[in-house]
Amino acid sequence: MTVATDRSEHDVTDTALAEAGARRIGWASREMPVLSQIRKRFAKERPLRGVRIGACLHVTAETANLAIVLRDGGASVALCAASEPQITMDDGADLVTELHTKRRELLADVRGGTEETTTGVTRLRAMAAEGVLAYPVVAVNDAMTKHLFDNRYGTGQSAVDGILRATNLLLAGKIAVVAGYGWVGRGIASRLRGMGAIVLVCEVDPLRALEGAMDGFEVTSIVAAAARGDLFVTATGNVNVIGKDAIAKLKDGAIVANAGHFNDEIDLKTLAAQATGQCRLRPFVEEYTLRDGRRVVVLGEGRLVNLAAAEGHPPAVMDMSFANQALSVEFLVKSAGTLKPQVYGVPRELDEEIARQKLAAMGMKIDTMTDEQTTYSRSWKAGT
Ligand code: NAD
Ligand code: SAH
Repeated sequence: MTVATDRSEHDVTDTALAEAGARRIGWASREMPVLSQIRKRFAKERPLRGVRIGACLHVTAETANLAIVLRDGGASVALCAASEPQITMDDGADLVTELHTKRRELLADVRGGTEETTTGVTRLRAMAAEGVLAYPVVAVNDAMTKHLFDNRYGTGQSAVDGILRATNLLLAGKIAVVAGYGWVGRGIASRLRGMGAIVLVCEVDPLRALEGAMDGFEVTSIVAAAARGDLFVTATGNVNVIGKDAIAKLKDGAIVANAGHFNDEIDLKTLAAQATGQCRLRPFVEEYTLRDGRRVVVLGEGRLVNLAAAEGHPPAVMDMSFANQALSVEFLVKSAGTLKPQVYGVPRELDEEIARQKLAAMGMKIDTMTDEQTTYSRSWKAGT
């Protein structure tokens, strides 16, 4: 979908769906009050006037609402396209990589970029450390109002939603294994437990593993968990987390899904190599029959199950992620010429402002410290 000033520019399979799409976009916008506030201000102030933005994001009703805000701020926005952008907006560093490898002639025009997700930020930091990053990028994922809510509660809910839509599985009493106990893994583990599953956690980081243990989950290795689990969800950003050794142990009928990065986390090559047959049982449900007769069920081709088999995160959480995106683009435009080709965090004051606006929209109130409390909390002389 392209939201451009020239409405004839687009690459859309069926434009007859536009009206139904507009209703879905409107429905999502009802749950995006912070983004709506930004839209009103952008429409008045036009801080992005004349800026070309290339956004390589999942094309959803929530992303459409972000594109509308940027357009109302004066920008022309191309979704999922490398159309000579001045600002890039990525979800996994795809557009950045495309520009830095295959389309280097376009780099001169680019003023900055934003990155939506954990793995993208990791890649960008690696590029900056090697000195190859050509322009400044804001790590939207690192904002508190992004990963604390989107990665944790957004994925927690939408990954379970995707698994249930695909399978109609009863989670109560099932043994579910969550690989990775970062922001995404924590959210998924807590939601699966909330639905009555017995949840095991796998980690490589001792601190996170300990956190999982003290949150009340059994922590074990992926190979040990493989022999016990009915359902597996990967959330690591790593490759082949359900690899050869784990596949060798899976129970007959085990269901495997990924909520981390692309289709990298489940070793689909090994599964395919060991399979004597493959069968699509339902949409997003593919069964591999292995040589020894065991059946392994892969959801959504091993891609992000929440976006493949469901609708991604609900708009109420994308409200904050995309408020960060919109304000980060404004920050990049306003800071033009002053930033180095590095990875920048979202300025703390923007993060706090988004949290305040979200709380206000939710009808929640917070307290303000009295002068006495402010002095007390900053002093080393009092209270010891
Ligand atoms: P994170 O860095 O907080 O957590 C990842 C965890 O995985 C870490 O604790 C790490 O130690 C662990 N890990 C790494 N390799 C492992 C292995 N082999 N076995 C077990 N654990 C391992 O990252 P996050 O914010 O939780 O994001 C995780 C992934 O999910 C990233 O790829 C991110 O881009 C993606 N993500 C997906 C969605 C979605 O909508 N599905 C939303 C946000 C983020
Ligand atoms: N591009 C990679 C990594 C994506 S990580 C891939 O597709 O595998 C998933 C990202 O999707 C998260 O950072 C989250 O912010 C975003 N996302 C989740 N729900 C969404 C929605 N409803 N609309 C747009 N983006 C969404």
